[in-house]
Amino acid sequence: MRTTAKKLTGKVAIVTGASKGIGAVIAKHMAAEGAAVIVNYASSKEGADRVITEITRNGGKAIAVQANVAKQAEIKHLFSEAKKAFGRIDILVNNAGIYEFSPLEGVTEEHFRKQFDLNVLGLILASKEAVRHFDCAGGSIINISSVASTTAPANTSVYSATKAAVDAVTRSLAKELGPRNIRMNSINPGMVETDGLRTVGLMESDFRKEVESRTPLGRIGQAEDIAPAAVFLASSDSAWMTGETLYITGGLR
Ligand code: NAP
Repeated sequence: MRTTAKKLTGKVAIVTGASKGIGAVIAKHMAAEGAAVIVNYASSKEGADRVITEITRNGGKAIAVQANVAKQAEIKHLFSEAKKAFGRIDILVNNAGIYEFSPLEGVTEEHFRKQFDLNVLGLILASKEAVRHFDCAGGSIINISSVASTTAPANTSVYSATKAAVDAVTRSLAKELGPRNIRMNSINPGMVETDGLRTVGLMESDFRKEVESRTPLGRIGQAEDIAPAAVFLASSDSAWMTGETLYITGGLR
């Protein structure tokens, strides 16, 4: 039956990497559905403050918390600030991630560790902390993976490997945490127009043209194409879903 009630009223959501890009739009959508939101960022305080201003102007609740979520101590700080501000935590969106592409000869220890430390280790440690804070009602963890976990384009061996690891973590932790009513699902976006994508020069690239030509719906995505699915996976609408990878790619595989 359809209802017009907000889907996340009374819930508290942490969105990592929410000062811009996909995370910022997820934070805004969750706040619009009634969640109190913790907008995490690494360095762009201004970006995080813009997100907070927009949420509060629209009648929502949000605070910004700086934390490098590749670091355990900073993850702990993020969760304790969230608890201090809103008293509980129900939803974690593991969105913070970096993408650096390189042919094999350019792969270095630093290139590897930087991406694995944030995209995989940080995601696991943040999930561990979330599970510590969820109450007996359980919780929902949403991992932002990528279509690259399975398409694995040339020159993305390390990035694609981080996202394949995220998909494996999603399936494994869904099994482990299900008995505690903690759900874990991932969203695997195709190419989405964001600040990050512009910074690495992909917006105007041949790679973008090639992706669009292979995409049944004929365009790359916008963060607004992704955020409603994060709300769905956070809400009780998806109460019987866990361990899933939801491809939002305009049909690209
Ligand atoms: P983006 O525009 O580059 O934004 C990245 C966000 O993550 C920023 O808020 C940034 O904060 C934050 N961040 C970076 N390092 C962090 C750290 N160590 N700790 C905490 N926050 C950190 O990225 P995006 O394109 O929206 O991508 C978001 C996620 O979607 C990533 O996991 C990415 O792999 C995935 N994804 C993106 C695409 C795409 O085409 N855009 C496609 C598939 C999957 P600061 O601004 O403070 O640095």
